[in-house]
Amino acid sequence: MQPVLEITESRNTELGGVTIRRALPRRGRRTVGAWCFVDHMGPAEVTETHGLDVGPHPHIGLQTVTWLLEGEVLHRDSLGSEQLIRPGELNLMTAGHGVSHAEEATGAYRGPLHGVQLWVAQPDATRDGDPAFEHLSALPQVELDQCTATVLVGDFAGGASPARRDTEHVGVDLRLRTGGTVVPLRADFEYALVVFDGTVSLAGGTVEPGHLGYLGAGRDEVRLQTAQPTRALLIGGVPFPEQVSMWWNYVARTQAEISAAHADWNAESPRFGEVASLLPRITVGPPPWSAQHG
Ligand code: MN
Repeated sequence: MQPVLEITESRNTELGGVTIRRALPRRGRRTVGAWCFVDHMGPAEVTETHGLDVGPHPHIGLQTVTWLLEGEVLHRDSLGSEQLIRPGELNLMTAGHGVSHAEEATGAYRGPLHGVQLWVAQPDATRDGDPAFEHLSALPQVELDQCTATVLVGDFAGGASPARRDTEHVGVDLRLRTGGTVVPLRADFEYALVVFDGTVSLAGGTVEPGHLGYLGAGRDEVRLQTAQPTRALLIGGVPFPEQVSMWWNYVARTQAEISAAHADWNAESPRFGEVASLLPRITVGPPPWSAQHG
């Protein structure tokens, strides 16, 4: 795989009352390493009557990675976890064979909400395993030229995140000051950049909020240039070796696996447990391929 710079527009959507810029998956690009989903949330204003409110819903075969720049969100899951997510803290839920969770406004917070939620596809070795949850309030930081980098997942520039990781991948929050920063990369990883605010020039192009800047693989480093303080997220990893099938909140390999999981969710099977949330459980109709036989 060669170094490239492919800039694609994120797709605007809405989740639980908050505007989302979905950078991944894209047409022709389903994964970056094991990363298979990138939702840039907000910035949105949380008021008495308006905040992120996503009721209980299921996941299989993936990890959810939630990282806030501003605001707070309450995470509740079917393992009994109840965890307030704040800026600078990593929320990591592993779905395995099945888990469910809710993401709620806390009721007390007023102000901006800004962050990202990503999914990591689990490999065959763990994707049918037990669900798990971890919350990490202390993550390694690395200084590079005009940048303070926080290592969310994986190893980067001498910093190693304690977060669970089932494949060779990395996620790094970049606080860029004005100027240039050389970011060390692994030639066997493919990478992409998402910009939260400001703009980043790199590899002959410019990436701004609402874009995914895909860098391909084969680089030992990349130089980032900024004309103002800028916040961005670098994701990367060894190209995911398995064909991923995704629909709604499920990551699997076949449509049959997804149909079976969705039937279990709609039947309120113990596979997905229960979430202690006052928000209504989320249900949607069957996958589109089911209709062919209906
Ligand atoms: Mn979710």
